[in-house]
Amino acid sequence: MDGPLPSEAAGFSAAEEAPSAVGVALNSQYLAPEEATLRRLCDLARLPPADRAAVQARALALVQGVRAGRSGASGLDSLLRQYHLASAEGVVLMCLAEALLRIPDAHTADRLIADKLSEGDWERYLGNSDSLLVNASTWGLMLTGQLIELDRAGVGSLAGWFGKLAARIGEPVARTALRQAMRVLGHQFVMGRSIGEALQRTAGRNETRYAYSFDMLGEAAITAVDAQRYLEKYRDAIGDIGRHVAQGGGGALRPGISVKLSALHPRYEYLQRRRVLQELAPRLLQLVRQARDAGIGLTLDAEEAERLELSLLLIDTVLQDEVTQGYDGFGLAVQAYQKRAYGVLQWLIERSTRLQRRITVRLVKGAYWDTEIKRAQERGLSGFPVFTRKQNTDVSYLACARLLAQNLAPVYPQFATHNAHTVAYITHIMAAAGTGRFEFQRLHGMGEELYQQVIGPDAVCRVYAPVGPHEDLLPYLVRRLLENGANTSFVNRILDERLPPERIVLDPVEEADHTHPAAEPRIALPEQLFGAQRPNSRGINFADGIELSSLLRQCAAAVPGIEPLPDAAAAQVEQALARTCATQPAWDQRPVDERAVILDRAAELFEAHRAQLIARCVLEAGRTVPDSAAEVREAIDFLRYYAVQARLLGAPVLLAGATGERNTLRIRGRGVFACISPWNFPVSIFTGQVAAALVTGNAVVAKPAEQTPLTAAFAVELMHRAGVPPDILQLLPGGPAVGEALTGDARVGGVVFTGSTQTARRIDQRLAARPGAIATLIAETGGINVMIVDSSALAEQVVLDAVASAFNSAGQRCSALRVLLLQEEIAPRVLQLLAGHMDELAVGAPTRLDTDIGPVIDDEALAALEAYAAKVTVGAPWQHRAPAPAASRTHRYFAPLAVEVADLAAVEREVFGPVLHIVRYQAADLDGLIDGINRMGYGLTLGIHTRIDSAAHAIADRARVGNVYVNRNMIGAVVGVQPFGGRGLSGTGPKAGGPHYLQRFVTEQTLTINTAALGGNASLLSL
Ligand SMILES: Cc1cc2nc3c(=O)[nH]c(=O)nc-3n(C[C@H](O)[C@H](O)[C@H](O)COP(=O)(O)OP(=O)(O)OC[C@H]3O[C@@H](n4cnc5c(N)ncnc54)[C@H](O)[C@@H]3O)c2cc1C
Repeated sequence: MDGPLPSEAAGFSAAEEAPSAVGVALNSQYLAPEEATLRRLCDLARLPPADRAAVQARALALVQGVRAGRSGASGLDSLLRQYHLASAEGVVLMCLAEALLRIPDAHTADRLIADKLSEGDWERYLGNSDSLLVNASTWGLMLTGQLIELDRAGVGSLAGWFGKLAARIGEPVARTALRQAMRVLGHQFVMGRSIGEALQRTAGRNETRYAYSFDMLGEAAITAVDAQRYLEKYRDAIGDIGRHVAQGGGGALRPGISVKLSALHPRYEYLQRRRVLQELAPRLLQLVRQARDAGIGLTLDAEEAERLELSLLLIDTVLQDEVTQGYDGFGLAVQAYQKRAYGVLQWLIERSTRLQRRITVRLVKGAYWDTEIKRAQERGLSGFPVFTRKQNTDVSYLACARLLAQNLAPVYPQFATHNAHTVAYITHIMAAAGTGRFEFQRLHGMGEELYQQVIGPDAVCRVYAPVGPHEDLLPYLVRRLLENGANTSFVNRILDERLPPERIVLDPVEEADHTHPAAEPRIALPEQLFGAQRPNSRGINFADGIELSSLLRQCAAAVPGIEPLPDAAAAQVEQALARTCATQPAWDQRPVDERAVILDRAAELFEAHRAQLIARCVLEAGRTVPDSAAEVREAIDFLRYYAVQARLLGAPVLLAGATGERNTLRIRGRGVFACISPWNFPVSIFTGQVAAALVTGNAVVAKPAEQTPLTAAFAVELMHRAGVPPDILQLLPGGPAVGEALTGDARVGGVVFTGSTQTARRIDQRLAARPGAIATLIAETGGINVMIVDSSALAEQVVLDAVASAFNSAGQRCSALRVLLLQEEIAPRVLQLLAGHMDELAVGAPTRLDTDIGPVIDDEALAALEAYAAKVTVGAPWQHRAPAPAASRTHRYFAPLAVEVADLAAVEREVFGPVLHIVRYQAADLDGLIDGINRMGYGLTLGIHTRIDSAAHAIADRARVGNVYVNRNMIGAVVGVQPFGGRGLSGTGPKAGGPHYLQRFVTEQTLTINTAALGGNASLLSL
């Protein structure tokens, strides 16, 4: 890929990304406007007045029944009643439940306990509930909470407190009590730790009225080994349940099993769909066959919206297979909160009818609502995949239920809800349909009081029963608590005594009819995330095949327009400097708003020419399509953000002073700025530097990296088209000679540079050696960035974030993770997962959408990385390398490497590529380690993975770095949200995309006018 147009140029293939038939049928609804979608669903769900009244009367009776019979309440209901989610104690309980049982070492467990319990007032909960569960957990919490309070008094520091506690009662007491409390919690919500235990429990006195669907607890698999393990778990479970059925167990309704597809494949993602369909379909077919032969049902859980199309493709494969001929136990969950829900059901009905199959449909509202909203906002999608008001989801549910009730031949409906109104509505429409061929479903530990009143000859209910060890339960439990503890949740509302029953059973269709607008205005649409002043940049929905194939078509079409560009000769440099110097004063005189408007216009043009920018970025820099798309978004954000900031900074400030005089402070451009940018972000860093300099009244000579002039040239063309005068912004492609000519010229008033620390130093020295005024230097350089992981962290999350941080963009980001510090107790597990997950990465052509990691920038970089890899791996205690693709050398692919080194000191310099160093540490040495990180002298990004808030804050306070990220990856800083830049060897600051950046590009002027000079102070005299 040396030279401008690499061999991958031919690679943008829209044909390969052709959208599936499912996508074509459904995706126009994916992010559809809420208003129109909802109104249509209201019409479909609306009942005649008499029926509506009957439903409400029934719902009211159910609510009253639940409230009256609540004394024996158990399970989640009573827990939620006791610890409201919004209370400090509710939050603490969730944090503890999520993390405590998985922490292997006492030291970290104690820190977590201290961290969380000091936040709660546990005593007030004791004795307030007659539920054994609540009291048992409160007891445990209070015991330890009290001990902590007693010992804290007069001790002051956490370390001191620990010492005293240990001396007095011994740490194990507190820890044991807490772990016990969490196990009590766990027991309540898990049907059994093993399928055998669960089956035994279903035979219990209270349980035989229900049917069961068993859910093997666990999170999504991120390695092939985990996926295989889950597959075997499912197989064993189906075998066990099948034997139970064969022996006469299971009751009238056959039991079932719920399967999470994300547990069966380590890359269950839309962009990997070719591979997923090939590898996962046979596994799924195998399970369905086994379930059919065992005489039990198999239901696929519904997961995130971005996985919906993929799961429907798999379902279609199963429906087409002979395995479902005559077997009507196969089905799926459909989430009513998705705007596509109704369409999904129509599609399923059409497919089953055509293929002469009968499927089960579990209609749920959806469990990932908050995640869907957050993701859509982060990704800048054109809308939300889910409704934004609870009542709209309810309406969708009712409309979907009606559709199912009208299609009982191809579908067996299963209505999963704990909402009395929803139950009443369904009972009503199913009675009207004259059929009992449906079932209700509830979660184990929830809705018992409601279904006590519902089940009978006309209505059966199945319990979704989680099975697994308590450690695996925790994420599940936290999700249930979040979902049902929300203020809008029915379970929460029915428990709130202050709410009259009538308010709880309002008809959602009627509510929606009276609510305008349909969408909740307090939830900012992705585009409006930054308020009216600054539209968010538009993202690409990488789970929508229609959008993707159109993008690739545009990228392919852009390729012929990319012509090589010669380096600037010395005469051009001279000419550019002369012109910029001559024209800058006039540009500076223009009102700041004029320049800001030009930036806003440039942002529009960047959006309109997104594919052309992406194509150049992919081809020149070897960045993947998603990375390039993210970069274009960042560039657009820079343009808009600096336009807003310049308007603020550019407004003259009237200063206070004596009467008879007017004092004004205003800003001016510094003159000519040289913007010297790197190849690793050829769109965004280039644009950010130039935009900041221009909008503050400077002229710009821009020298992009030698490797990426074409991308820069196109960005400049768009800025010129937007209204930046050509003389004011001049592009000077070329290598070090151009850079040196600029930095050695006294006409340059400032340099903004992003690149290596060594080059920054050379620029600094060159500027200092020039005659004339002292120039401004803004330098953004590299770092040896570290992620600290303690044993309270979730290993899967750590691995996903570490891999993204270290290997994304082939590690060629200054923010990239270079050293993963692992607390020794969890290091073996994390490394095992890391190796497994690395094996799943696709290194290859950046034009392909299923590529995770593209090439490194040039042959020299590849050779240096390979030489380093050969050296650092000698005698390493642990190492792992991702599989290398074919043609590694010719295409400059470097297979990502993770390698353990003895300590931090072994990492002497920034290795700019996908190489991740691992260092194990002991918890007690953490402070010393942070000092060690500080001593390295860099200070760019730092990642922390811990569930202990006080630990995260302590590390962030001690570390001298620019950007700290807790419990997430450490790349992809968003303009205006995570202003980016470091300190020490990592750069001069101020942070790019932050509120102080523009100040470095300006000089200040005060204007003092003696308004009394004509002989009198008119304004004072006329008071
Ligand atoms: C047997 C069973 C199986 C399940 N399987 C799955 C599954 O495979 N996948 C899955 O995702 N979920 C699944 N769920 C969880 C289910 O989605 C939730 O339990 C359900 O959403 C709660 O609905 P409800 O009718 O009981 O409560 P309600 O309180 O009536 O509804 C709560 C729901 O409304 C929605 N909601 C809340 N606030 C808003 C808002 N502001 N805007 C729009 N919508 C909002 C959310 O979906 C929330 O969960 C399952 C539930 C059961 C009972």
